[in-house]
Amino acid sequence: MLSLEDAREKILQAIQPVDAEHVSLHESFERVLTEPITAPVNLPPFDNSAMDGYAVRAADVANASVTSTVTLRVIGKVAAGETFNSEVETGTCVRLFTGSVLPKGADAVVMQEDTKAYDDGTIAVSDKVTAWENVRFRGEDVKLGAAVLQPGERLSATRISLLAALGFSSVPVSRKPIVGLLATGSELREPGQPLQGAAIYESNRAGVSPLVQRAGGIPKIYPLVRDDLEATAAALAKALEECDIVITSGGVSVGEFDYVKAAFEQLGGTLDFWKVAVRPGKPFVFGSLNGRYFCGLPGNPVSALVTFCLLVWPALLRMQNAKSTHPPIQFAKLAQTLVNRGERRHFMRVIVEENGEARSAGAQAAHVLSSAARANGLVDVPANGSLEKGALVPVLRWD
Ligand code: AMP
Ligand code: MG
Repeated sequence: MLSLEDAREKILQAIQPVDAEHVSLHESFERVLTEPITAPVNLPPFDNSAMDGYAVRAADVANASVTSTVTLRVIGKVAAGETFNSEVETGTCVRLFTGSVLPKGADAVVMQEDTKAYDDGTIAVSDKVTAWENVRFRGEDVKLGAAVLQPGERLSATRISLLAALGFSSVPVSRKPIVGLLATGSELREPGQPLQGAAIYESNRAGVSPLVQRAGGIPKIYPLVRDDLEATAAALAKALEECDIVITSGGVSVGEFDYVKAAFEQLGGTLDFWKVAVRPGKPFVFGSLNGRYFCGLPGNPVSALVTFCLLVWPALLRMQNAKSTHPPIQFAKLAQTLVNRGERRHFMRVIVEENGEARSAGAQAAHVLSSAARANGLVDVPANGSLEKGALVPVLRWD
């Protein structure tokens, strides 16, 4: 059976990135850049004041103090956004505000709190400044032509803020992959419909869909598929036609009603691997057909969610050409020992508290959704082993 690392590597090797598109900066949150970004302007674009105060010649006030103030004549006022044409000469100053352009002749800004203004148009300066104090230099944040962002970086709020400050109104990013979601199982019913006999409500498409969105994909939900080879093949064929990647749930185990793998092969698809040495989620299957990809998740609701996080999330990030293909991780300190008596490593559901401590979320069987709903993450506990109380461990944050 494949190790998780080998399975992930096979998927990352197989997947080709989707193409790029230009989107408005306002729609670029969490998208992946496809081209390097260099600064088309200096940031800030001109020398300006870091304070509300007065532009001065530093030498004029080099010896100013509370007991020996220096008087300067105010020759003008520059609001943020205004320009100023005169020059600050010895004995004069100009009223400035945060962001105001520094007038010619001035080489420092005295903060307002260190001055007193008089009705005769003068101020008394009660503290010295050194040359260039309280001045923000043109290009000191970002220089014109500097490399600011690289392809593969995801656009966070702060990166978007930087791009806006540099004047970008749109950016080149990877197209969002379209992700088909199918659920197979004759026992499944749509939530909202009456439940009779041995039927159960279908929950995997609903649970996987938000994870697809977090991974940057667009979920496309397909109707339920009954356990039947022809019906499964027809549903898969349609979804593979319409999507970049298709995710099924159920029907990948060894039961006689498990038709998903056979249906995919009947369509001409190549199965790359089946079964990964993890718990929950062993029967995960991956394949491809004509540049489209297929991930078969096991039907048990927690197995489906866990294998999505471990194997499909990285796949979707790779499709977008993201530099980092791992879901979000947080280190947490175990508040209790986690024990795995099984032969496969166990991704156990945990609750990470706000103080950074993690504990088990409860029952860990593959069908128990209530503990999954309590949990905000997964901890990788080694086969036939344990992670001790107090250990600092990485938690995959799926919430
Ligand atoms: P399977 O992988 O098809 O053998 O299904 C394993 C278990 O998960 C069975 O108890 C199924 O009824 C259940 N199951 C399969 N698919 C879903 C689904 N989409 N929603 C909820 N439960 C499911
Ligand atoms: Mg089934």
